[in-house]
Amino acid sequence: MKSGITLRLLFVLSLAFVVIAISCSEEDILETDAELIPYFEIFAEEAAIRGIVVDYEAERIEGLIQDIEESQVLGQCFRNVERPRKVVIDRETWEEANEAKRQFLIFHELGHCFLERGHLDARDEDNNCVSIMHSTTQLCPDFELTDENREFFLDELFDTQ
Ligand SMILES: [Zn+2]
Repeated sequence: MKSGITLRLLFVLSLAFVVIAISCSEEDILETDAELIPYFEIFAEEAAIRGIVVDYEAERIEGLIQDIEESQVLGQCFRNVERPRKVVIDRETWEEANEAKRQFLIFHELGHCFLERGHLDARDEDNNCVSIMHSTTQLCPDFELTDENREFFLDELFDTQ
């Protein structure tokens, strides 16, 4: 009886050790897809204009292009205390997206991963979404970042007050 408990305790302890060992070894690796780096940099530049310092190494945020199974999910932000936060963009979505949409996707996911924002589905009197952080594309199918609306949406995104 007693040895059973001791064995179980040993098992739990060794499991805990393995978890710690894994999280430590992953701590040093931060991998962002080369294709995403220019867009991560645009986000950092827009943040800097608004007085926010973005350091992906310090914040431990990486970005990957992967196949996302659910068809309606274009991108995701994974958060885990022990590992880097991870922006994942669906490969097919990324390959089909134009420049404006790519920027929107990265702004939205880093809005989650870096700014720690949730979704905002509010709309103005013309029924247009007021935020890059709207929850689904169905909500504002015509949403697109343009030279005209870009500043408005980026001000809204970084407005962390
Ligand atoms: Zn989202």
